[in-house]
Amino acid sequence: MKLLISDDDLTSRVMLQALTTQWGFEPVLAEDGEQAWAILRGDNPPRLLLLDWEMPGMSGPDVCKKVQEMDLDDPPFIILLTARNKKADIVAGLDAGANDYVSKPFDSAELRARLQVGKRMIDLQSELLQAHHQLKTQAAHDTLTELLNRGAVMSVLKHELARSQREGSPLCIGLCDVDHFKNINDNYGHLVGDAVLKELAKRFNKVLRPYDQVGRYGGEEFLIITNTIDINCMSPFERIRECVADTPFQHEGLSIPVTISIGIVQFTPTSSNSDINSLLNLADKALYEAKANGRNSSILA
Ligand SMILES: [Mg+2]
Repeated sequence: MKLLISDDDLTSRVMLQALTTQWGFEPVLAEDGEQAWAILRGDNPPRLLLLDWEMPGMSGPDVCKKVQEMDLDDPPFIILLTARNKKADIVAGLDAGANDYVSKPFDSAELRARLQVGKRMIDLQSELLQAHHQLKTQAAHDTLTELLNRGAVMSVLKHELARSQREGSPLCIGLCDVDHFKNINDNYGHLVGDAVLKELAKRFNKVLRPYDQVGRYGGEEFLIITNTIDINCMSPFERIRECVADTPFQHEGLSIPVTISIGIVQFTPTSSNSDINSLLNLADKALYEAKANGRNSSILA
């Protein structure tokens, strides 16, 4: 684990570097608080910090305060090294945001133990953050296709509608349904049906631009949201439709032709009704027309 050692005293720096290397850390050295602060703002900074209290310019507690102001999700673990051992000083150091302190001259066994505690805390914090991130992802995504789930894509739609109204920019919503999906399930079984939905998600992701959003709206229904600046908002949806229809889906030796139909509604902030349900109703009607039109087509409401 990388360890930032910041001390203005050369002898102290060299000694700390040698010791902590022996203990398995990867020391990164700074000669004063400014250097330490620059390193902390760089790429992939150390998360375990050993800061001398007294340094010219920015002191150890000054660096602590700066770090605290960054308000990070994964703040570093900071140990102050200090010759000060009056209670008031210690309290001031901890108030500034330090997690621990070690008195100078330090006992190396004690310093090592305290660094190990810091390392454990950081590892634990990383695991917690990762678990938290996983839970958030799981809560917003459909497990089969890994696209946004219905709840998540609806909240994206709400958000995008509000943005569109605020910024006066158009928004297109496409409700997309797999043609004769029941036949795929009946002919090949549900596992193949699932594989088709997964492949469909991959093709959506291939064609959509990073700022477009897609979610699984229902069984074989998907909701696509794009804030296209095109007058003709059909084109992104046509690209999606073609990308699905052009190449049959391959699954365990089977070649399955798949097509989709899309009902599109364009929302223009000045003229349209911004009620989500009426927009989705319009998209649904257009989808019904696309189906009646022979499927494998997209229709603008
Ligand atoms: Mg000093």
